[in-house]
Amino acid sequence: MFSLGANELMGLTIQDLMISGDKVAHVQIGNNLEHALLVLTKTGYTAIPVLDPTFTLHGLIGMNLIMDNIFGLERIEFEKLENMKVEEVMNTDIPRLYLHDTIEKGLDLVVNHPFVCVINENNIFEGIFTRRAILKKVKKQIQLANNGNDSE
Ligand code: AMP
Repeated sequence: MFSLGANELMGLTIQDLMISGDKVAHVQIGNNLEHALLVLTKTGYTAIPVLDPTFTLHGLIGMNLIMDNIFGLERIEFEKLENMKVEEVMNTDIPRLYLHDTIEKGLDLVVNHPFVCVINENNIFEGIFTRRAILKKVKKQIQLANNGNDSE
């Protein structure tokens, strides 16, 4: 039955489904926009976290923010890519999840965000919680529930 799968999901925490920090592409405070654009382009991600050397989370930088900043009134100001730092452009108004938050809280946030950064109580970056991860888990639970129904 599907309700069984849902109960299993409810018992999980964000830590159980997150992508750990060592597998997450990021840029550092002090990097210029050119570097961020390179990382975003090469990885194919739309946005990535901005961290400092202690792994403290400061914000997110995305392709749209970079493009928006280099479009001048009359021309594209390519020189800004080299001269501007990620911290001048990044979005700091971002949702955050803690390792022990519930999956329900994560689900609430990924309705409006493709991924959410996970931190510990000291604001140290631990990883990301993505729509893909939760959708894969839900799909698995539905398949298990269907197989269970078939064998009844
Ligand atoms: P996904 O749900 O896998 O399609 O990922 C959605 C978004 O999460 C991507 O566009 C990225 O902005 C971010 N993301 C996912 N995986 C990673 C990763 N390994 N490193 C950095 N960002 C990621």
